[in-house]
Amino acid sequence: MAIGETVYVNSVREQLLAGRARLADVLAESESDQLLRLLGEVDSALHRIDHGSFGVCEVCLGTVEPEQLLENPLARVCLDCLTPKQARALEYDLELAAQIQKGLLPPQDLAISGWDISYHYQPAGMVSGDYCDVIKEDGHLHFIMADVSGKGVAAAMLASNLRAVFHSLIPLRLPVEELMVRANRLFHESALPNQYATLVFGRTSNQGELEIANAGHLPVLLSGESGIRSFESNCKPLGFFSDDKVEVVRARMSPGDTVVLYTDGISEAENDGGEEFGGERIRQFVAEQQPCCPTELVNACKRHLAAFRGSRERADDETLLAIQYTPAAGSDFASA
Ligand SMILES: [Zn+2]
Repeated sequence: MAIGETVYVNSVREQLLAGRARLADVLAESESDQLLRLLGEVDSALHRIDHGSFGVCEVCLGTVEPEQLLENPLARVCLDCLTPKQARALEYDLELAAQIQKGLLPPQDLAISGWDISYHYQPAGMVSGDYCDVIKEDGHLHFIMADVSGKGVAAAMLASNLRAVFHSLIPLRLPVEELMVRANRLFHESALPNQYATLVFGRTSNQGELEIANAGHLPVLLSGESGIRSFESNCKPLGFFSDDKVEVVRARMSPGDTVVLYTDGISEAENDGGEEFGGERIRQFVAEQQPCCPTELVNACKRHLAAFRGSRERADDETLLAIQYTPAAGSDFASA
């Protein structure tokens, strides 16, 4: 077994042991057949780890797909050996997860006075490890764009967890630095040792004051009449830092300015020749679109990306978010 595998199996063992302790606590409070069955499965996985048969398919003795094990360390058979009934159940679970995830996105016709917002969200598979959100609270608009490491259900679960973290932290009205440190701590507690998330958190006021924290994510673009500014990452991704200080960049948005955020599913999309779409192309594209309403910008970018990709399949989750500052002329927003 390679060193990487040993580290991985050890982290799975730790995770299973922690889960086992929590299960035992719950079971001590109240009996449940379902939880007892789950406890049995956890014990069986721990047994397989200790006896070197973890990741071996019980039917064909081949290898259980690593992606499948990453999503479900309790998996005992490879995908090829699932019975039709098990395969259908898996498909049904995934469809349900996809529906739930879709329901957690901001509404497509989100209308918030003073801002014009549009986004594109397209998972590569059934579910996505990207998280995109816009939250109005206390006269401020908050926006989040994140990309959880890995793919599939495990990444999607953490993306949903991130959403819960930010929805509970934002109403506390903390300074952005403190909010990020707390979010990182909460994320760290729920993630597996090898999981992390690149993330941008932004907050703007009715007066156009903008604060951005970029934790390992791609640059945030601010497009306006005077050109494009980009806000690069200035701290480690979530799950990587413990109590590090988070640096927050501040700027001022003028009416008509647009913030554009995206994940690497967009910038790293490849064409038939294996060439990447690239961050520079996005920057140029956004500059050319100015002035432009977010819906047009997002739709034009989708078309541009589809034309670039040609027949090449989508390899990663795609998310793009555009927020334009549109205070009503003569209102407190614009004049304050
Ligand atoms: Zn098999």
